[in-house]
Amino acid sequence: MIPDWPSERRRMVERQLRKRGIRDPRVLNAMLTIPREEFVPHECRVCSYQDEPLQIGYGQTISQPYMIALMAELLELTGAETVLDVGGGSGYHAAVLGQLAARVVSIEIIPALARLAEQNLARTALGGNITVVCGDGSQGWPDAAPYAGISVAAAAPDIPEPLLAQLGDPGRLVIPVGDRLDQELRLIVKSEGATHEHIATFCRFVPLRGDGGWR
Ligand code: SAH
Repeated sequence: MIPDWPSERRRMVERQLRKRGIRDPRVLNAMLTIPREEFVPHECRVCSYQDEPLQIGYGQTISQPYMIALMAELLELTGAETVLDVGGGSGYHAAVLGQLAARVVSIEIIPALARLAEQNLARTALGGNITVVCGDGSQGWPDAAPYAGISVAAAAPDIPEPLLAQLGDPGRLVIPVGDRLDQELRLIVKSEGATHEHIATFCRFVPLRGDGGWR
């Protein structure tokens, strides 16, 4: 039997997002409409709307829906921004950001996953304003900088300097920082030349690789 995806999505938004305090109507609407089942491996499609990360191959995961919603909400996007998505994976997180911003650059270090994201975004017709690139996102992607929003979906030992440099003013950066097992989700807000840092929550992400990540 094919699951009733729209009602699974509605249930996820109510129970996992609204109940936990996600309020941005644009974020809730994006998560209500984007077919997460199109971004998870075929054999775990029935798990698409579970309250947890899911394996997408190559030892990587698509983040828990709540974490994606929280990160998107923290960016306070209005629809006019250029956003950098570091750790593109399946392309789902990029699809959510694509609904919230004018343009998204999604960078992924594993070539096969960058291809997968491109295919998923093309098949769902959600990739119109999203450019998928393959490379080391810990160095950002200078070609499209500055970014009003930067979202990092892999855990870094520290905030990579190039990401701070490519963050616009005003600009907001969300990134998990800590050790390989436990991190805090940090929000960096740049405004009128000053930079402020907040801790949004505690979290567990797969490690960021590359020059600004774990060797
Ligand atoms: N946001 C993704 C999943 C994130 S998992 C989704 O929606 O499916 C973290 C991803 O970050 C993995 O795909 C991993 O390969 C990638 N990654 C790790 N280090 C990276 C780096 N330095 N640059 C770009 N991508 C990186």
